[in-house]
Amino acid sequence: MINRLAIIGIGLIGGSLSLALKQAGQVKHVVGYARNEATRERALSLGIIDTAAASIEAAVAEADVILLAVPMGAMASVLAEMAPHLTDNMIITDAGSTKAGVAKAASDILGNSISQFVPGHPIAGTEKSGPSAAFATLYQDHKVILTPMKQTNVSAVETIKTMWQQTGAEVSEMTVEHHDLILAATSHIPHLLSFNLVGLLAQNEDVDEVLRYAAGGFRDFSRIASSNPVMWRDICLSNHDAILTLLQQYQQQLTEIGQAIQEQDGDYLMTLFQSAKTARDTRFEIPKVTNGKK
Ligand code: NAD
Repeated sequence: MINRLAIIGIGLIGGSLSLALKQAGQVKHVVGYARNEATRERALSLGIIDTAAASIEAAVAEADVILLAVPMGAMASVLAEMAPHLTDNMIITDAGSTKAGVAKAASDILGNSISQFVPGHPIAGTEKSGPSAAFATLYQDHKVILTPMKQTNVSAVETIKTMWQQTGAEVSEMTVEHHDLILAATSHIPHLLSFNLVGLLAQNEDVDEVLRYAAGGFRDFSRIASSNPVMWRDICLSNHDAILTLLQQYQQQLTEIGQAIQEQDGDYLMTLFQSAKTARDTRFEIPKVTNGKK
């Protein structure tokens, strides 16, 4: 049971953690900070937080666990603002979608408190943002990856692992580098492709006509192009190496597909499509649907 949880950034991710822990009866008091007073008021009125703090200093005071759930581009400044107010018994974690940048910022900024910092990433989300998008079952049957560093205290990792398990999530651990590579492939590149295709079609004069007939596959594929642009700009800029490596491979493959079509090489296309279908049919773990939103 967490006595006092401080959430910095009360949006989809931070808000859903609070609601999940409250529903499980695993947190006594949640204090939330967001820069915008209207966001804090909204989170209060939705019962996501019990107290709204007007500063990061006030939010972290007396907290047992602090969750950073702000966009990636704001992580370093939030860490710097909270660092002077941390005490030895506080455990800090984050929910950022890429880990190398946050881990480096924490190492540079937190000083001795670095042993209490557990980088983390819940592999769950929707294309919606803000406190109104939060819901208690977001993490149920989803994965959460923790990427402890060599300085991270083992008992701090255990506390954060237990916290996420109480939301219904399955928790695993890996290195920061491995996380960023895996997530580039499974999340960052797919979002880039969706933003790119929808952006390309949106420039088309016939865009309304095209979208009127969009069904099934395109509707599914384009859903993630509705995700928060600030969040995705920050993710792409922070996970640059892994994303660029995979993009190059993807471009190479696209070129080959174009050549195959030009040369009417059906065998190439069949081999590619069949191997993709087999992988999708036999090797994917699809999270259970826990409510209408995901
Ligand atoms: P969100 O936009 O719903 O919420 C972010 C919150 O942070 C907002 O309330 C915003 O007002 C606040 N904020 C922004 N800058 C701030 C600052 N400088 N100081 C304090 N508060 C600030 O975003 P989200 O989807 O909850 O994402 C939060 C984090 O979780 C991001 O780092 C993101 O990479 C990560 N994440 C998102 C998803 C997803 O699918 N949405 C999944 C996993 C992880």
